[in-house]
Amino acid sequence: MPELPEVETIARELRPLLDGATITGFQTDWPRAIKYPDPERFATQLAGREVLDVTRRAKWLIMPLSGDMVLAVQVKMTGQLFVVEPHVTGDRHVHHVFALADGRELRIRDVRKFGRLGLYRRGEEGLILGADDIGELYDQFGPEPLAEDFTVRRFRALIRTRRGRLKPLLMDQAFLAGIGNIYADEALWRARLHPLRSAASLKPDDERRLYTAIRDVLGEGIARRGSSVDDYTAPEGDGEMQRYLNVYQRTGTPCRRCDRPLRRFVLGMRSTHFCSWCQRLPRAEQTPANRKLLKGAVANARRGPRWSELPLGEGAVGAERD
Ligand SMILES: [Zn+2]
Repeated sequence: MPELPEVETIARELRPLLDGATITGFQTDWPRAIKYPDPERFATQLAGREVLDVTRRAKWLIMPLSGDMVLAVQVKMTGQLFVVEPHVTGDRHVHHVFALADGRELRIRDVRKFGRLGLYRRGEEGLILGADDIGELYDQFGPEPLAEDFTVRRFRALIRTRRGRLKPLLMDQAFLAGIGNIYADEALWRARLHPLRSAASLKPDDERRLYTAIRDVLGEGIARRGSSVDDYTAPEGDGEMQRYLNVYQRTGTPCRRCDRPLRRFVLGMRSTHFCSWCQRLPRAEQTPANRKLLKGAVANARRGPRWSELPLGEGAVGAERD
């Protein structure tokens, strides 16, 4: 699922393509994706608006439009955005098409159709909030980890208010915006911290290492245009960060630091990848609950194909909900 580096890459690559573009129409065959306002008003209110910028907040694409409106797109698991000439053929997974004044189209392809769109009035600080659940979510995002003013001091102050396990904490959008399963595992491996370690147990040096690891891995992810595991691809094509990931989906392969096989266990229904040698769980945290979770930690890989690699035949993409 696209995380901060992937969505940032999409925003950066869409920006020049949509510079000066005006949206003249909108068509969808999956109106359920439109969360605000209703699909008809969404289409009417978009028409005639110029795209002023393409930015990102957390894992959302944010496009300020003329007339103080904002188009928000959440790509979720399989959303892909392309700007193409109208004669370029699409496939049955293109569900939303924005017509542009110069004849091109902004298309959203979404195999699993979990993506969401909303059109909001822009307030002074971005979106006007509270219009629906998207607005509320937006309001609750934690700080952007790559923001200039997000210093190690701020990170320390933030993490010292938390007590939970590090892996779910990093993925909590109200704690930090934009981190998901991939970059949480990668940041913890870099910082040599066990995913089950509690935030309350961190020493100042652990906090600093974690802060640096988060910023470094997200920065590298952007520089390499994101990780094209699963269905993520950017307007300019696949990213290459997947080749540089150290733990994610590398179960059973040697740790690049200590050569021992990497392990995987399931936490909160998500796969968690780590090195049991480099990322030790302190004795005080080897609680019965943690031991039980780790008992299932395996060193054999289980990796399916990317969604885009599955044949498009009947039932191939079994999670389609219609
Ligand atoms: Zn290791």
